[in-house]
Amino acid sequence: MTKTLVTKLINALQINDQNIVYTEQQKNHTYHELKAKVFRFADFLTTNYPNSRPILVFGDHQFEMIVTFLGCVLTGHPYIPVDSASGIERIKSILTTADPQAILLISDFPFTQTYLGNRPLINRQQLQQIFQQPESTFQPKRIAEQTPFYILFTSGTTGSPKGVPISHANLNLFLEWLLSPTFSIPEKANFLGQVPYSFDVSNMYWLPAILRGGTIKALFHQEVENFASLFQRLPQLDLDVFVGTPSLAEMLLLSQDFCQAKMPHLKLFLLCGEELTVKLATKLTKRFPQSRIFNTYGPTEATVAVSAWQVQPEKISTVKRLPLGTAEPQVKLLVCDDHQLPVPTGQPGEIIISGPCVSAGYLNNPQKTKAAFFTLNDQPAYHTGDLGYFDQAGLLNYLGRKDFQIKLHGFRIELDEVRAALEQSSLIKQAVAIPKYGSDRRPSHLVGLIIPTDSTADHQSLIKQIRQDLAGKIMPYMLPSQFIFQRSFPLSPNGKIDVKRLIKEVNS
Ligand code: AMP
Repeated sequence: MTKTLVTKLINALQINDQNIVYTEQQKNHTYHELKAKVFRFADFLTTNYPNSRPILVFGDHQFEMIVTFLGCVLTGHPYIPVDSASGIERIKSILTTADPQAILLISDFPFTQTYLGNRPLINRQQLQQIFQQPESTFQPKRIAEQTPFYILFTSGTTGSPKGVPISHANLNLFLEWLLSPTFSIPEKANFLGQVPYSFDVSNMYWLPAILRGGTIKALFHQEVENFASLFQRLPQLDLDVFVGTPSLAEMLLLSQDFCQAKMPHLKLFLLCGEELTVKLATKLTKRFPQSRIFNTYGPTEATVAVSAWQVQPEKISTVKRLPLGTAEPQVKLLVCDDHQLPVPTGQPGEIIISGPCVSAGYLNNPQKTKAAFFTLNDQPAYHTGDLGYFDQAGLLNYLGRKDFQIKLHGFRIELDEVRAALEQSSLIKQAVAIPKYGSDRRPSHLVGLIIPTDSTADHQSLIKQIRQDLAGKIMPYMLPSQFIFQRSFPLSPNGKIDVKRLIKEVNS
């Protein structure tokens, strides 16, 4: 019988005792300390909040984040991680949807506290008092496997964020796959802890780190924003495992020290959250020739990631885009037409995910749940809104977001495909393709936002060279008629290129 996630976590806290579990701003915390604090916090919750309603945890990358997450989980309370960089509108929307029972302020709340209503607030000082209570008597009880472990709010830049409850069973399945020989995550490894806890890709580092007796090398927002000190510190982190978005890897590549010679133990890359481009994969394999690099794919609604492909250096020089790979065990990936019927190999369609990885549906939102979730062969299923196809080798491939598909002069164009095509030019370091809308609200032409390889080149002659370089390589209707040069692209709070913001900016 598979062990429950709670059993596995408690076991990990017990057996690793004096090992370091968390490093934050030069401070180390042991498993012993983690267990002691988790149990005292669990005591506090059992006494004060005997039911199991959700608890909101507001913060950055403090050690107390994982302490309180685990305390909530052991007592059956789903936690809602809310990043300290969140805007007030997002926070208000989350409070309305989830109505948490209590709010933990691990970071100071930067807005007036009246927004939080009259819910009980627990701040860092109160937490320290809870941690100083005498010896804990906490006895873990059995938590039903369908209980939500966490509730994550989606980061859509338009519309209200949707709450996605992920159960203990959902997460246990994902972690079993992640800790299987497919990825061969080493024991006692050092994991990069940069991804915000409010983004589900964070579950690719903090939970496997604990279950493998490893260490989370946490980086606060401020530390990541200061490139000079970040790049200096990077090699000192002695990382074994990189977890993050391709945009984060791209940013770290700006440092010449982000390479195998300076980071000899960094042998595993788990990339997720947005497309891993051929260009970036090529750069990473050159900088880290001894590393295994995985392109993993999945939406929050299906628990972090559901497919993976290990980058093969000999293959990436022959393809335009990288495969998303094969599904995790027990999960079925389908590519379907508009009637939810699977299309033949090679044909494009929407990617549907079905199996025990799929969430029960959006929190308190039956309308959005009905639109995105359904049942397929008695299994929960989810419409990803992503386009893809299966190739002859049975690998899933990505074609872009359904909502980033436009019609231009009668041609159906995937914006991500244009981006991938532009990046074939050695003159372009990174690109994003954006539709420019006319007064009739229909796309009038394509705009290529470009970060050039040579930032000093003259823009007019560069445009001419790019056109010449790409002639014959991409369909003429996919070549943007306008180019805008940029130094960098804005990132969403989750660290992905914020395409929706760029569309807004170009059209404002
Ligand atoms: P989120 O729920 O924020 O993790 O976003 C999930 C979405 O990110 C997916 O539906 C995809 O559109 C995109 N995504 C995640 N991983 C990948 C990947 N490896 N390649 C391409 N797109 C990805």
